[in-house]
Amino acid sequence: MKILIVEDEPAIREAIAGYLHKEGYVCEEAEDYETADEKVALYEYDLVILDITLPGGSGLEVLKSLKKAHPETGVLIVSARHSLDDKVKGLDLGADDYITKPFHLPELNARVKALLRRRVFKGKETITFNEIEVDLATNIINVNGEPVELSRKEYDLMCFFITNKNRVLSKAAIAEHLWGDYMDLADNFDLVYSHIKNLRKKIVENGGSDYIKTVYGMGYKFTSY
Ligand code: CA
Repeated sequence: MKILIVEDEPAIREAIAGYLHKEGYVCEEAEDYETADEKVALYEYDLVILDITLPGGSGLEVLKSLKKAHPETGVLIVSARHSLDDKVKGLDLGADDYITKPFHLPELNARVKALLRRRVFKGKETITFNEIEVDLATNIINVNGEPVELSRKEYDLMCFFITNKNRVLSKAAIAEHLWGDYMDLADNFDLVYSHIKNLRKKIVENGGSDYIKTVYGMGYKFTSY
């Protein structure tokens, strides 16, 4: 899961990024309006944590651009204590939830987790694809009811595939999802290849079918066809 943190106060931004990174998320940061607006136009995120008062412009304008480019991305607004107006406008523009400053990082994390479950996993506790089951509460993947030991990146990769089944995912999209922006460099495609190879091997060794198909010149597709 890839999260963009838009926040101009360095201490808050870094604390959020540090906390969420430990929770296993790939975090990107933007410290002003211009950077945030550029990032939401260029890259895809599962979730954007969005401060409203930013140097150079309003977070609400970033929200408008984001909803135009990637309507499926989740948005959690971070607002100052007394700015009810920003919250209402943000929710009107398509934000999913808001949190008021100051907040505790575990609370932010709980909101993030719930929002991602609603947005990316449509509110489900588990996602199944034939014999493969992803348990979103425990971050465990079962094959025929038996847990498979996967690294965090392999787990993320399987979630990415299973939530995008029957869709071609380019190596660049996979690299960005697993490691963050600016990973769309040819060198890093070897890394994508080796993670996919390991994931396939572990699934097959545990009695699963190999649903990850190579689409030559384009990328990979998770499908039973
Ligand atoms: Ca601010």
